[in-house]
Amino acid sequence: DLGLPTIPKTPVRRPTRQLHVGDVPVGGGAPVSVQTMTTTNTADVDATLQQIAQVTAAGCDIIRVAVPSADDAEALPKIVAKSPIPVIADIHFQPRYVFAAIDAGCAGVRVNPGNIKRFDDRVGEIAKAAAAAHVPIRIGVNAGSLDQRLLAKHGSPTPEALVESALWECSLFEEHGFRDLKIAVKHHDPLTMIAANRLLADACDYPLHLGVTEAGTAVQGSIKSATAFAILLADGIGDTIRVSISDHPVQQVKAGNHILQSLGLRPRKLEIVSCPGCGRLQVDIHKLAGQVEAAFDGFPHPLRIAVMGCVVNGPGESREADLGVSCGNGKGQIFARGQVVRTVPESQVVEALLDEALRLTEAPTSP
Ligand code: SF4
Repeated sequence: DLGLPTIPKTPVRRPTRQLHVGDVPVGGGAPVSVQTMTTTNTADVDATLQQIAQVTAAGCDIIRVAVPSADDAEALPKIVAKSPIPVIADIHFQPRYVFAAIDAGCAGVRVNPGNIKRFDDRVGEIAKAAAAAHVPIRIGVNAGSLDQRLLAKHGSPTPEALVESALWECSLFEEHGFRDLKIAVKHHDPLTMIAANRLLADACDYPLHLGVTEAGTAVQGSIKSATAFAILLADGIGDTIRVSISDHPVQQVKAGNHILQSLGLRPRKLEIVSCPGCGRLQVDIHKLAGQVEAAFDGFPHPLRIAVMGCVVNGPGESREADLGVSCGNGKGQIFARGQVVRTVPESQVVEALLDEALRLTEAPTSP
């Protein structure tokens, strides 16, 4: 016994109310779900459905579509009817689109009740329609669109300002007896976002949607999101997530899934263990790892594949993985379940790994 602290394998989740976004439970111990938003013109039904199909294949659980115009609102029934995953309508100002979204069968609506109250106080009618249709509502507070009153009070979008805004917006629905709410407080700075979500988790029992908003380009944004989400999720805070990187929604979904898989909150599918490279490299490892990842994109079985650049760590990692290749001298030594199964020229490594993957996943696992 080394006296080391025991780290729980998967985080214990914070107890929250549970709501259902279509058939996806959110909060109350349900698995953490991954969301993204379509980037198509919502009114272009075919393009939107095509993108929804792509993100679904990448592992998205819930899709949000922006509804800024009447044409978009009119497209919702067709989108909802054919979408394989629940659709949330994202509406900022126009209550009439909220009613259209509920009538269209959307599984959820994201609104900013502060805006609705200010311009056209129909919050009570929205609460009634949403309750009748069992449609949950997401309250979204972003640093960039914080209520002017709270901005003036707090001086900047501090964690306290974001939380006060979110709880005030919730109270506008609570006044009408509506509590089927999910909250997102987002900031581009992970530390502010973490602090805001911790405060919120202490202050209410609504499920929380996590997002580092406007997180940036793929590498920076994924890291900012992963850092913030991991800290919160390790404390059991967070019921759905979106990785808001400036990249295709499929990449956002993949990043979200990797974060959940890394935390043991979602079963792993494909994992590539590839070496970073060093002066001992005997192959273009960056290119090869990318080729292997692309070749196995969508592979239906969970596999760990080691792609290693030389014989120092190559055989060891390859033996530990389900499949592996250890490169050197223009060749790749292919491993399957710990055994060397063949050696192929470098140009045939990807094909050989695919071959072995099929053999492994089709064969019974043990005699
Ligand atoms: Fe360097 Fe070899 Fe390790 Fe890759 S496996 S990082 S090439 S020592």
